[in-house]
Amino acid sequence: MSFRSFLEQMEGKGEVLHIKDEVSQNFEIAYIMKRFDNNGPILSFDKVEDMETRVIANVCGTRRRICEALGVSSNQLHQRLLEALRSPKKPRIVDDGPVKEVIEEPDLLRIPILTHFERDAGPYVTAAVVHAKSLDENVENVSIHRLQVLDEKHFAIRLVPRHLYRLWQMAKEAETDLDVAISIGVHPAVMLAAASSPPFGVCEFDVANNLLNDSLRLIKCKFVDAYAPADAELVLEGRISASKEALEGPFVDVTGTYDIQRKQPVVEIVNVMHREDYVYQALLPSGTEHKLLMGLPFEASIYEAVSRVVPKVYAVNLSIGGGGWLHAIISIEKQVDGDAKNALLAAFAAHPSLKHAVVVDSDIDVFDLTAVEWAIATRFQADEDLLIIENVRGSTLDSSANQETGLTTKMGIDATRPLTKPYEKFEKARIPVSKRAEELVQKLHGVQASKS
Ligand code: MN
Repeated sequence: MSFRSFLEQMEGKGEVLHIKDEVSQNFEIAYIMKRFDNNGPILSFDKVEDMETRVIANVCGTRRRICEALGVSSNQLHQRLLEALRSPKKPRIVDDGPVKEVIEEPDLLRIPILTHFERDAGPYVTAAVVHAKSLDENVENVSIHRLQVLDEKHFAIRLVPRHLYRLWQMAKEAETDLDVAISIGVHPAVMLAAASSPPFGVCEFDVANNLLNDSLRLIKCKFVDAYAPADAELVLEGRISASKEALEGPFVDVTGTYDIQRKQPVVEIVNVMHREDYVYQALLPSGTEHKLLMGLPFEASIYEAVSRVVPKVYAVNLSIGGGGWLHAIISIEKQVDGDAKNALLAAFAAHPSLKHAVVVDSDIDVFDLTAVEWAIATRFQADEDLLIIENVRGSTLDSSANQETGLTTKMGIDATRPLTKPYEKFEKARIPVSKRAEELVQKLHGVQASKS
């Protein structure tokens, strides 16, 4: 269960598109990633200008691929993730693994790290999971961070004030640097676990190990006190400086706008380990993959929270148009008319960054935005079904929030049909289907697909 084995599995299913022509790590790869972003295949850039390493992109770029990586159907995904978050399990520590095939002096300039957008500050690592632990060894954490290349041996790391930031603060108070293992090219389950936020003290590797049915194996780094998946493609051993800072950014974040420049800590890389023929994993900032990985854990939280207040939740979609972050569509089964509004309140509480949410009935597919719009058009009355909450804390990524206070206005839309009005008025009309008509449609679709 490694990045490599998942890639081979996807290769076998025709999910990998090989780009054999030479391309540059500066903008060209990012541009091609962007053009294939929407539900696109895994991209394998086999010939990168002036580099020996292949670049693999868009691995977790579709919901379906993430489900395949976890071996679940799409309607089991949230429950599976919640189950893993509830039952983290320590992975086995091993002495050796494929990532130790080559151990060498760091030179970040020999890794095909991409420069993505026009005004980005420079090349950035975007698909790295960072492991660190507290000095007393009581707390371990794994999270995903963007890393800006400063020179052959240094990155600036963006530390949002969350768990890794807290570990770094604790190290700083002890006047020491924080050891980290930066792993690139890990199984999608590890990416997803690292993107989720169990409470401080729960190690996300343990969550990943549950997702991987106890098959995750870790190795201890050679020079720093941190751990990495033994099957990773590439591991950078480093130390986050307690004192050295550098200007980080601007850099494009999940909404597709530039995040500002800030002073952020410097990471010194002290050792590099990789597979003999390692591949470098890239992830397009603000691409679908970025949104899915950031959004999925919060979809699960919303699913769980709304489940507590209504009889049944069918599906939750933090839609791509909302940055996978600001917009939710939730389908429920309600018992009484107030249920949908309680569902909205629960969703806003479960995901504080959520800005707009729509609740629909179970006959609406939350991933079909035309159907969602149809529900709003036919089942929603603004004077009764609209919920507006003014001056609340929202997302720092919301460009339209009040610039001084950071406060925002949230909007909930109850687009479920009112139970007090006759059902016939809201029924989605169906055409009866015969076996013959269904088979004919399949055949005609087949003809169309083979032509395109
Ligand atoms: Mn954490």
